[in-house]
Parts: sequence; C-alpha cells; structure tokens
Amino acid sequence: MNTRRDLAVRPVRNGKGIIALRSFRRGATVCRIRGRIVSADIVWGYWRRGNTRRGENCFRFDADRYLDPEGEIGAYANHACNPNTGIVKDARGLKMVAIRPISTGEEITHDYSTLLGADDVWTMRCNCGDARCRRVVRKISKLPDDILRRYHRLGVIPEFILSIRG
Ligand SMILES: [Zn+2]
Repeated sequence: MNTRRDLAVRPVRNGKGIIALRSFRRGATVCRIRGRIVSADIVWGYWRRGNTRRGENCFRFDADRYLDPEGEIGAYANHACNPNTGIVKDARGLKMVAIRPISTGEEITHDYSTLLGADDVWTMRCNCGDARCRRVVRKISKLPDDILRRYHRLGVIPEFILSIRG
C-alpha cells in the first residue's frame, strides 16, 4: 500500500473523489485515514460556521471523537450507497478496506451510514447514481436489513458504532 502511488484525487460525479490508480483485491487495505482526532464540539463548529464540506468529511472515531482528514486524501472519500470499501478500525486507527475487487480508474467510496451511530442526527442527501441509492444517508439503524446484514458479514461496521445507544 502506497497512497501516493496507488490513489489520486480527481473530479468525480459529485465534486472531487479518490480514484484507484491500480486494482485492489477484495480484503486489501486501500488506504489508512490520516488526520487529526477532534471532539464532537469541533465538528459541530464546522457545521455552525457553514463549513458543511469539512463537517461531512469527518469520520467518527469513537463515541465522543472524530477524525478530521483535512489536508489528507481521506478528505475526498465520498459516500456511495453501493460502495467498494468499508471502514475498519484497528489498533492504528481507521482504514478503508476493499469489500469487492476494485479496478483501476474506479472511485473509492464507502457508506457513511456505517459510521453514524444510533445517536447521530446528521443526514445527507445522496446523488451517488446507484440503482439502489437511498437518497438520504442516515444513521446505521435506518439501513435496510439486507444491507445491514451484508455489512455485518463483511466486518465493516466498527464495534464502537454498534455499542452507541440512541
Ligand atoms: Zn446514494
């Protein structure tokens, strides 16, 4: 894995996104999400000041904290309702793992709902273009059952998200 050689930020359907410069096997780590660990208050501050892009780009890191990838490639990780990666948390932090084979030129996406706990009131309109686009991205407990089961099976719902109560 070499983020600079393997991935690029390019224009995509909705703004800029991460494009694969090579193929990835299912199960491969596509990239680590680097950035600054910040409190929920900091993220709410982005929203209050109208910086919705920066707020949307933050990854929930645990019950109380977020990872702000500003200035790193992770800031361009877009949502898709039928994504090709999932977010996995390990001892070193968050990483994007391929949940199906990824071809050169594909946009790297993940499902934001897998990082939205039961207490998350945040929603986002979606225009990902998939036939099963959910139109609005909501917290994990609102995912259709078949999708939720699939993400469970793939291991792409972090444990801390599952333990958050609404
Ligand atoms: Zn969608």
